[in-house]
This record gives sequence, C-alpha cells and structure tokens, in this order.
Amino acid sequence: MRSTKEEITGMSVDDNGLRVGIAESTLVEKQQDHSTNTVARRRPRGRRFRDIAGIHLADDLDALSRDEIDSMQHHNLTATLAAARRAPVVRSRFPDLGTAATANDLKALPLLSPADLAAGCPPHSTEFLLDGGRAGLALRSSGTANQPKVVYHSWHSNDRVRHLGARGVRATVPVPPRRLANCMFAGEFGGAFLFVQDLAERLRALVFPLGSRTPPAEAAEIIVAHQIDTLVATPAYGVELVAGSLVGRDHPLRNLLYIGEPMGEERERTVRRSVPGLRVGSLAYSTSETGPVGYQCRYQSGTAHHIHEDAQVLEVVDDKGRPVPRGVPGELVVTPLTTSGMALFRYRLGDRGYFTTTTCECGSAARSVVLLGRTEQSMTVDGTTVSSDQLMGRLATLGIADPLDCQLEVRWEGHHYRARLVLSMGTPPGITADAVLAALREAHQLHRIITSRRCLSFTVQRIPAEQFARTRQGKVPVLYQHLDPGHD
Ligand SMILES: [Zn+2]
Repeated sequence: MRSTKEEITGMSVDDNGLRVGIAESTLVEKQQDHSTNTVARRRPRGRRFRDIAGIHLADDLDALSRDEIDSMQHHNLTATLAAARRAPVVRSRFPDLGTAATANDLKALPLLSPADLAAGCPPHSTEFLLDGGRAGLALRSSGTANQPKVVYHSWHSNDRVRHLGARGVRATVPVPPRRLANCMFAGEFGGAFLFVQDLAERLRALVFPLGSRTPPAEAAEIIVAHQIDTLVATPAYGVELVAGSLVGRDHPLRNLLYIGEPMGEERERTVRRSVPGLRVGSLAYSTSETGPVGYQCRYQSGTAHHIHEDAQVLEVVDDKGRPVPRGVPGELVVTPLTTSGMALFRYRLGDRGYFTTTTCECGSAARSVVLLGRTEQSMTVDGTTVSSDQLMGRLATLGIADPLDCQLEVRWEGHHYRARLVLSMGTPPGITADAVLAALREAHQLHRIITSRRCLSFTVQRIPAEQFARTRQGKVPVLYQHLDPGHD
C-alpha cells in the first residue's frame, strides 16, 4: 500500500496552475481507516477541492457529508446558471431558465434530447456554447442516431472531466494503477482514448497507448513483458484478451477497467473463470457529451455507480419528464455543472436506471444509481426501421431478458443480406430459427426484415458473448448492421 505521504503528494502535484481548495487531513484519516480495517468512518476535518473556473470539485467526494455534497452542488449550480445567463446564445436557447436557482427548480425545465443537441451543435449552431468554443477539445458522440452530436469542451471543462475520471478510479481500485494499458479506440473525433491518457497522467501512472487495433494476443504479450497492472478496454476487447491470452499464464494484471458499455454477467463470469482474483470494475459511467456521470467504489459491481453529485444534477424521470421516487426505474437525465464548454440542462442520457434506496457499504454519502440498459436503439434495414425494445419485447417470450445476451446481425452481400440472431451461452438452449420467427411474427417490421426477399438466410446461433460483432468503437450493440463487406 502507498504511504499516506505519497498519496497526498500525488494528489497535489498536477495542479496545472489551477486553484486548489483547502488542504486538510481527510485523506490521512481515510488511509488510517483502511489500514485498521475499520469500516468507512467519514469525519473530514475540511473539504479539499479543486476550483475549475468557479466550479468546486471535491478531491474525494466519498469523504464529504451529505450536507457538504448538497452545498457544493448548490454552489456549482449557481455558478452554472450564472454562466448560462451571461452567454446570450445560451440564454435564448434555454428561455425557461428564468429565475431557476436550485436543483429542484431544474425539474420545471423541458428535457433536452440527443436529437435536440444534434440539431443545435457545432458546426451549424453555437446555441449551447458558453464561451464561444474558441479553445478546447471537440468530440463527436458515437451512437446509432443518424445525425452526429458534436460537443466542444473547453480546456476548463476537459479539466473537469479529467478530475472526475481520476477521482473515480481512485475510488474503484484499492491501489492506484502504476502501469496502465490503454486499449480504447483512438481518433475519429472519439474521446475515450484521450480520456484514459488524461487519467493516467492524473494518476501518475505509466501509460501504454495501445489503442483498440492492437490484436488482443499482442496486447497480452506487452502486458506481461512490461508488468502492466491495469487494462482499460471495452468489455468485448477486455474479455477477448483475458480469456483468450492470459488464461493459465503467470501475468501481472490486477485490474480490468471497462468503459463504453456494461460488462454483463456472462462476460464477467468468463473473466472470473479465466483469471481468478482479477478486479473487474467500471472505469466510469461517462458520455462524450457530459463527461463522467458516475464512478464505482470498491464495494460496487455490475452496473451500480455512485454519482459525481458535486459536478452534476442527476434525475431519474418518468416518460413525461417528472422525477420518480428513489428505487423506481426511469430514464436518466443529467445537468452537468460547468461554467465553460457547453451548457446542457436536463440532458437525456439514453439510459434507464434507478436510485438505490440504501447507503452503500463504503459509507459514502454520494447517492448511487443502478443502470438498467439503454432506453432504445434503432436500425434501418432496407427502409424498415426496428428498435431494440421491439426485439427484446419479443425475445422475452423465449426467456431472453438481458440485451447483452443477444444480437441481431445484418450483413450485406451486394444487394442482399444475411440475418443472424446470436445468443450468449447464458440463454436457454434449444432456441431454433423457427421458434424465433414465430416469436417475431407479432413485431411486423422485425419479421419483415428476416423474411424479405433480400434476406438470403436467417439463422440462430448460440455463441460466447465475446464473439458478438462489435462497432469500430468496440461496443456490442443489440442491433448490428454491416453495410460493406469489403471494408472493415
Ligand atoms: Zn460505495
């Protein structure tokens, strides 16, 4: 374990000239708690935070009391609203801001959809830009929507993203990564690879920027040769590497941190079977548009995350945009707190989830949310549009409930295509193509796609989840279409 002194030095070095809040002995106290195995006694003697253009972000959110979190969030919301009102374009984009002053007041604002963002984002509009988009990092959000969403993060808002990301990793792994393999997709306007590079710098780790194109077997050799302790990858890449190339070997890997989509039970089982003792955790619950929304403490697993509540206001709402009680599932809507970059009020994240009703075992006063999957994904095949919800609704009749357990794949060959439904090994055995055809009969568009004259064949196969098709960004969508067989 690192010494207390090292920990504090590590936290305060990469200051980049930004103002840092009151330095107190919160960390010392936490460290002592762990060494004596006492459970999560949070008695910070002061709040240590980073000031990023007027936004105060705790160095360790889990060390704050509920009142302190609420007060920091309120301070940051006040700064965010003031910045939005100062920027004429933003003020006219959100005319309903009015006199809103508290998190409660936000609930009266309309929801902002990804389509709204796509329609009002650069280069064709500046309506969300708090500071004109003069300097910073431009990112394009991946997804299945036809219209791309482009966000301009200022360097200040990028610093916010880095701070939250690094703070999240410290909460996730007991010993911060020393050597980290970055196997995220690089380039093409994507943010994940750069995010991981930034985290490594913040965590003062040695980073190996392998990207997602390095074959997993080759990445495994590099991990062994360079004594890399932490792998950051999409779940699909991570499982392929661990289950395919590290199983049965003497290797240094301690942590597999994934990002981009949930790991899923079957893939997690595969990892645990292959490499017992490996810590599998979420690097962050994050989107290109908003930065990190949630982080996983070492007591959490699956899709449970604490919320970075000093940095945003997260709501769970019903289909009319009204907040639902804690414990009740709904759609996740977030308002990132920032004074620069882009202003997004009540942005629909496209995920479903619920706030937990009990306090986490770690003792943190930061609320937790459990993610239940994407709200919906759609795919248009030869003019017919189908949604993941339609597919899941019908497959439920065959005992398939988890979107991570199935994928409808359409692969074009010239003017025709082949359709295939792949099911993970965790699904009930013996599901035939005829049974699926019968189940899909009531979902007319889905049925049309697999019975169209352009469809050369429809098959159903049960295969390990790590063999499901992936997008270029390494995600495993429920609906997958490969348009051009000549180009990968
Ligand atoms: Zn926790």
